[in-house]
Amino acid sequence: MRQALDQAQNAWLVGEVPVGAVILRDDAQGLPQVVATGYNRPITTSDPTAHAELVALRHAAQLLDNYRLPDCTLVVTLEPCAMCAMALMHARFKRIVYGARDPKTGAAGSVVDLFALPLLNHHTAIVGGCLEDDCARVLRDFFAERRAAHKARQAALREAAATAAADAELDASDAIPVGATSESDEPLPVDDRDDAAIPVGVAIEIEPSPSEFDVQGTRP
Ligand SMILES: [Zn+2]
Repeated sequence: MRQALDQAQNAWLVGEVPVGAVILRDDAQGLPQVVATGYNRPITTSDPTAHAELVALRHAAQLLDNYRLPDCTLVVTLEPCAMCAMALMHARFKRIVYGARDPKTGAAGSVVDLFALPLLNHHTAIVGGCLEDDCARVLRDFFAERRAAHKARQAALREAAATAAADAELDASDAIPVGATSESDEPLPVDDRDDAAIPVGVAIEIEPSPSEFDVQGTRP
């Protein structure tokens, strides 16, 4: 589980929810050896199925050149979801060990217990709560950091808006009186023009109309 926690840290480093997994298989002497590792990366790979368990599972299956891994144990820092639970059962895993419980999507007893369904033909042994506090703390710390970063961003945006408003007020008080001429009648080069000086009518024209967005709010 310590190695799975290291994998969770890798996920954190790339901005993913920190969940890590390790797959073990006994060697000829009966000593467990690491076959594959994986960490959560659905955002970085644009793949909603890229949970830590499935990343490690794919590596192990390719490495062992087998779509079934009946001699393997998977250790994961968070209780598997239904997708991962079924994938692990399809791969015929011998045993799953997990750390923190997941009250929102856990499929090993927290929301449902797919591993205990008597009608499913393969039964994978399941052990929960291994280094539970450490596994849960990583997730808690990650979300606390993310909330703090979000608050800091919001505060910076508010400050920038307040500064811009104050600058605009100053600019208005410095405006050239009507009738006076500027230092030069030469038009400014395009690159030197201030975007804020674009007449409102023009700015409206270059804003995309709502019909140019698709239903998900992104540009076509
Ligand atoms: Zn999952």
